[in-house]
Amino acid sequence: MRREDFPILNEKVHERALVYLDNAATTQKPQVVIDAIVEAYSHWNANVHRGVHHLSQVATQKHEEAREKVAQLIHAQSSEEIIFTKGTTDSLNMLARSFGEAMVNDGDEIIVSQLEHHSNIVPWQMLCERKGAVLKVIPLRDDLTLDVEAFKGLLSEKTRLVSVAHVSNVLGIINPVEEIIRLAHEKGVAVCVDGAQSVPHLAMDVQQLDCDFLVFSAHKMYGPTGLGVLYGKKEWLDKLPPVEGGGEMIEHVSFEKTTYNVLPYKFEAGTPNYVGSYAFSKAIDYVQAIGLEEVAKYEHELAVYLEEQLVLLSNVRVYAAGQEKAGAVSFNVYKADGGLIHPFDVGVLLDRQGVAVRTGHHCAEPLIDYLGVPGTVRASVGLYNTKEDVDVFVAALKKAIMMLE
Ligand code: PMP
Repeated sequence: MRREDFPILNEKVHERALVYLDNAATTQKPQVVIDAIVEAYSHWNANVHRGVHHLSQVATQKHEEAREKVAQLIHAQSSEEIIFTKGTTDSLNMLARSFGEAMVNDGDEIIVSQLEHHSNIVPWQMLCERKGAVLKVIPLRDDLTLDVEAFKGLLSEKTRLVSVAHVSNVLGIINPVEEIIRLAHEKGVAVCVDGAQSVPHLAMDVQQLDCDFLVFSAHKMYGPTGLGVLYGKKEWLDKLPPVEGGGEMIEHVSFEKTTYNVLPYKFEAGTPNYVGSYAFSKAIDYVQAIGLEEVAKYEHELAVYLEEQLVLLSNVRVYAAGQEKAGAVSFNVYKADGGLIHPFDVGVLLDRQGVAVRTGHHCAEPLIDYLGVPGTVRASVGLYNTKEDVDVFVAALKKAIMMLE
């Protein structure tokens, strides 16, 4: 699907044509996104919001149009609910500090799950330390899906927030977030969805999902690095305090008292990444021109094909094989005597053949510990990958296995 739009895919790695299967870490950028960055700095760069001069007004308009576009992408009720951040990690830290400040007290509880990315664990742990709150963990069932029954038991009078990944960055599994949100809301508990791995792969509707917060990164959806989103329902964002002080987030400042700006600016201290937001709007245009549903369907078929090929290999163990997934497949390779071949060694031999995959703990050590392995090999697809990419990858893997056995 439109491989020719991504110039980096013409690069050679170790004199081989690049097969890029590390899309869960970051995606490559289409020419329109690269051009947008050059265009911004070449033609209308100026600081936003405060200027009366032409360039500042152009920059402001493009930045605010980008916010509108993000709101439409996730079906937010209004663009006031879209806060631009540096990325998913920044969004989660901001939420933990703001929500934590206002809503969490000694003895309160926050719930995450066993399969979270560190970015959706550590900010909550830090909050718990600050406030004397307790972090509870939704366990996994044997098939590596979230144990929803156990989750019901964890929800209590003391629960203030549940924060879970929509799609696991390690396993690719789509978690039952609709059910989690429904159960949490029955108890009046707010839910944050980590959409870092879902927004790029699934059509997202925050109003239908009814999540209170959604976080994601532009760079995982063909957009630039250094830009992310914290979506929050307006009634929540109105209630929560700002996290960072400085320019842009104020209404009036005096030494006696400072008042804060309206949404979303209350949460956006300092000069925003308006070049990034513009480039991201071009990435959204790009994906929407192909069609989000179309992309989701294509990537799903490709991921299923990839998993089918891996499952055929007798010494490969695929995690959560057969589960409904989006984008990523994790596996390990075993020797005939049952010994695990270190995922790092597999990754290096794949790289030598021009195939880029990720190996290690994928910033999800509690999950990797639970699996009882030193790490996994993860192959993850994007819209530009093809069946031929998968075939090259599987052939390279077979060769690597022969060398390592
Ligand atoms: N959560 C999940 C599920 C992720 O996959 C990632 C990125 N690997 C993050 C959070 C952190 O995203 P970022 O590094 O863009 O802040």
